[in-house]
Amino acid sequence: MPEFILELKKIGYSYHSMHGEIQALENISFGVREGEFVAIVGPSGCGKTTLLSIIAGLLSPEKGTIAVNNPDGSLRYPKVGYMLQHDHLFEWRTIYRNVILGLEINHLMTKERLNYVDQLLRDYGLDQFRDKRPSELSGGMKQRAALIRTLALEPQLLLLDEPFSALDYQTRLMVSADICHLIRQTKKTMIIITHDLSEAISLADRVIILSARPATVKEELPIHLTLQDDSPLAARHAPEFQDYFSRLWEVLTDKEKGGEEIEPNVFQS
Ligand code: ADP
Ligand code: MG
Repeated sequence: MPEFILELKKIGYSYHSMHGEIQALENISFGVREGEFVAIVGPSGCGKTTLLSIIAGLLSPEKGTIAVNNPDGSLRYPKVGYMLQHDHLFEWRTIYRNVILGLEINHLMTKERLNYVDQLLRDYGLDQFRDKRPSELSGGMKQRAALIRTLALEPQLLLLDEPFSALDYQTRLMVSADICHLIRQTKKTMIIITHDLSEAISLADRVIILSARPATVKEELPIHLTLQDDSPLAARHAPEFQDYFSRLWEVLTDKEKGGEEIEPNVFQS
């Protein structure tokens, strides 16, 4: 069986405008295993969202290809669920009508899928909030609702673009741990973009480090933490955590090559 279900091969992409060309991606190659959590980190503006849009099929790569190796041998592209930085819930809809929006748009309001949504609302502790409006929920609950809306379509591959960055630090720690735990239970494959290096180490099986624009893959860092308890919060206390953090920092800032150290805030988006 092939090692990767999805394999990016020498992906390149440029934006063309009246003012010229912006090269966003150059020669990006990496694979993703089934059920794996891959985190992508890189300086702000380097091309992370562009890369995720290409994986989601929203943009076509200008150069290179994406190969699909499904376990059943089919060549079908995996069903993608895309979750953005902001929850994008509609205030004029109740939480329930927000989470079924994708099903409604795609004409998939079958009894089975609606039952699945009910189960997710119960599992994620939102059942008693189904008739509330988004503004009546906390940031973490809204993010859960956005996740339910994404999961309702039963995607095989989840793409998360800085999904927790709108939350304050404490909420973010809790919500990221919580949501990733829920996604692990569903055994889905996930690619998450984050500018928080600790979040990348604690959530992912592998971290892909991109260079400044045009983004190239600088390094792939597999993460193996020695843990009693496999929660992302506990991961931050694993003995290896600090070494991974230092390595990511070194690669991102080019310190290993004796280059100029760049300001930490370039990783903020
Ligand atoms: P990141 O997500 O890493 O912050 P993006 O993928 O959003 O970066 O953007 C990469 C580069 O491409 C940036 O310089 C950005 O200004 C540019 N860019 C993004 N979207 C467009 C667009 N639609 N048209 C022109 N340039 C764009
Ligand atoms: Mg982005």
